[in-house]
Amino acid sequence: MTLSAQPQLVGRLAPSPTGAQHVGNARTFLIAWLSLRTRGGRVILRIEDIDSPRVKLWAVQQVIDDLQWLGLDWDEGPDVGGPHAPYVQTARVTQYAAALEFLKRGDQLYPCLCTRTDIAEAASAPHLGLEGPIYPGTCSHRTPADIESLSTEYAWRFRVSDQSLQIEDQFSGSAHCTPAKELGDFVIGKKDGTPAYQLAVVVDDHAMGVTEVCRGDDLLPSAFRQRELYEAFHWPPPKFIHVPLVVGADGRRLAKRHGDTRISVLREQGVSPERLLGLLAWSCGWQADRRPVAITELLTVFDLSCIPSVPFVMTEALWRELMEIV
Ligand code: GLU
Repeated sequence: MTLSAQPQLVGRLAPSPTGAQHVGNARTFLIAWLSLRTRGGRVILRIEDIDSPRVKLWAVQQVIDDLQWLGLDWDEGPDVGGPHAPYVQTARVTQYAAALEFLKRGDQLYPCLCTRTDIAEAASAPHLGLEGPIYPGTCSHRTPADIESLSTEYAWRFRVSDQSLQIEDQFSGSAHCTPAKELGDFVIGKKDGTPAYQLAVVVDDHAMGVTEVCRGDDLLPSAFRQRELYEAFHWPPPKFIHVPLVVGADGRRLAKRHGDTRISVLREQGVSPERLLGLLAWSCGWQADRRPVAITELLTVFDLSCIPSVPFVMTEALWRELMEIV
């Protein structure tokens, strides 16, 4: 009898250095890391900095410092290298360009001249999808060959299929979506020539051998867009885990308006990582109270199914408690 090799479990932490990382980011990264490390998985750190106008250089080093302070480690990343280097998206643009060229050979990609205003004005009552107005298809008659005759800037838009897709999310269960009806054709190459998130993330996850993608559930609709891309490239998709976000007392996604919840502030104030881990472990249902806990202990109590399926509300009172302000 021959024993078949277990396919390797590989996941990634993929922060966008567009600002400081906060308690919400810490919670999602912690879950992603524990999910991998409790099952002998490899961890990759990838810096998603292609959104250049918003990227802040100081934020790259800060995210590394934040994650290390929290006790997370990785086998591959910009600071430690590895077989899939480089681990910073702006250094991987040739790979995205090659992927775009591949798709141009099919008919699933077309140049799109529309501006945001064009899209908003194209229909008096725009068809609303899962994430806002659906692209009305103004340029969908075009083909890649048309670019020869186009003198204005254009984006590359991916033509989604009208099939109904199903994703077996490892946390939230079965999700269904018909991309043509609920998402619409989406941009994978921006007008300024840079790749869009949807393309970069799929190209990277495939190239880096990622088998498990764990992230915030705001990206669940994007998982369907990414599934369409995996199909177009004939690549196997990873398993997905979409976990609820951390929100402020007003129920909106944690952001600056909710006051300070930056990890760097905790570090600078000398708060121990175990205090934050205790709060996060409590929020995930791994311990009954918010007592400080070591990362090694969390490896023994981690359980995806204990995490509440509703967003975690980070109040000012919890922040004050964390900071030991009475
Ligand atoms: N870079 C994205 C973020 O920070 C995550 C993208 C992903 O995990 O696919 O929100």
